Amino acid sequence: MNDKARILVVDDDTGFLQVAGSILRAKGYEADTAASGDEAVSRIKEHFCNVAILDISLPDIAGTELLSTLLNINPDILAIMLTGHSSVQNAVQSLNRGAFAYLEKPLDPEQLLSVINRGLEKQRLVLENRRLVEELKQRNRETSILLSVSQSVAQSLDLPQILDLALKEVAHSLDVDASYVCLGENSHLTLEGYYGFTESVAQEMKHIEVDHAALSYIFQQTEPVIIEKIADSGEPFLASLSRGGYQSCAGIPLMMAGERLGVMGLATRSERSFSPGEVELLEAIGREIAIAVRNAQLYEEASSAKALRELDALRTEILANVSHELRTPLAAIKGFASSLLQPDVSFDEPTWQSFVQTIDSEADKLNGLIEELLMMSRLEARVLEVKKEPHNLADILESVRGRLVNVTVRHRLQIAVPRDLPEVAIDGARIGEVITNLVENAVKCSTEGTEITVTADTNNDEQVVVSVSDEGIGIPAELHQKIFDRFYQVSNPVAERKSGAGLGLCICRGIVEAHGGRMWLESEPGIGSKFSFSIPSV
Ligand code: ADP
Repeated sequence: MNDKARILVVDDDTGFLQVAGSILRAKGYEADTAASGDEAVSRIKEHFCNVAILDISLPDIAGTELLSTLLNINPDILAIMLTGHSSVQNAVQSLNRGAFAYLEKPLDPEQLLSVINRGLEKQRLVLENRRLVEELKQRNRETSILLSVSQSVAQSLDLPQILDLALKEVAHSLDVDASYVCLGENSHLTLEGYYGFTESVAQEMKHIEVDHAALSYIFQQTEPVIIEKIADSGEPFLASLSRGGYQSCAGIPLMMAGERLGVMGLATRSERSFSPGEVELLEAIGREIAIAVRNAQLYEEASSAKALRELDALRTEILANVSHELRTPLAAIKGFASSLLQPDVSFDEPTWQSFVQTIDSEADKLNGLIEELLMMSRLEARVLEVKKEPHNLADILESVRGRLVNVTVRHRLQIAVPRDLPEVAIDGARIGEVITNLVENAVKCSTEGTEITVTADTNNDEQVVVSVSDEGIGIPAELHQKIFDRFYQVSNPVAERKSGAGLGLCICRGIVEAHGGRMWLESEPGIGSKFSFSIPSV
């Protein structure tokens, strides 16, 4: 509101207008006069006036009508009606239509001034109240924007995901066309996430050398930088925005505990200014995003440190578990080879043959063990390649049948795999290895002459389930999970000596899981075991 309140006096009595005008001016008001309704309307349209003093009987329009017209133009005008003694009824009607007060003519100037003062005070309170309500609404809006940004960044610890969610939220809630975040060290910044940019602008921005000029400047600031009109400049970053059709932009330095992390930016296709309140909001959003970015970075650092520790533990575990397994066949090979190489000893043909055969089979064992270790490390590093192609499991069984028959020569092998199973997307060779491994285990853990069965069936056409059952030693219930852990072995009274390193089942399960399937065990000691795995059908 102006310091000097503006008052319009409307009366067809020009003498009265003159007197009233000079009294009001003498009291420090800015007084304006109009001799008719029309004139009053055009004055009000030209300027806001705080108070309108209206004669109730004007030549061109009834005072009450003029009152309504003026209040329509600006409902905040404080109207004081002037009535003759006879028109009190009209005055009451005016109050009903929104007039602040009415005064009877002839006017008592003191009374007029006191009514004006009261009215202006009321008007001041109303306007102040409205300003506060507007401010409150604006604060509420800003708080809810900040809340939604902080909720969206709190949803994840994954940096790209945080930036995706936050930038989308920022663009929507601040009604801007694009938003982005560049992060970096020593002012060498790279575009880490964006929302709303067309692919061509995004590509262009990715290839801009950003360790200079505009972004670098924003990075060095402590407060948001607003560019209301992007000028045609040689600066590559701004030029790229301009080519993308953006007219205004804002950059917010991202800082956390005094450390500079990067820059968040906004861009709009139409010219856009940011009020001081909005700039404050941008700062607060910048702080939220900086915290989330730092948390994600710390989490990533902690995770990779944890992964390294796990890797180290795995290496120690492998060394502890495997060196012995490797040494046994190696010692045998070395022993037999050294014997054969002794110059002063000559072996007869059968002895010589058996030494060489042992060397050969121990070398195979060593080879198998190394294969298993390599497979394990591929599984651990999640880099095991599985070439999935549609297959019928009956074909896979056919391809390994010869091998299965060979290993079960002292057992009774039954294969019951129907041809009409749904197809499965599998790496045929690897699934063949899994089945062979399960059958080899069954052989090792059951006495000669017992039955080993391989079956396959479908589960509502959604999965194919393959099972290998034996009538062997069985496994106690408390070991049903443990048995799939790497290097886990159970003492086996049936086998003469340990043959593996406790990796077979762990590898089998890893291969099945790499196909989206699952492996489990049903077993009872003394009765037998049934290892099953499922593969989703195509
Ligand atoms: P390995 O390669 O040393 O045989 P596995 O991971 O294949 O290791 O098996 C882990 C343990 O589970 C072995 O010690 C073995 O005794 C036991 N096991 C595997 N299959 C069977 C089975 N069909 N019946 C009883 N025990 C079994």
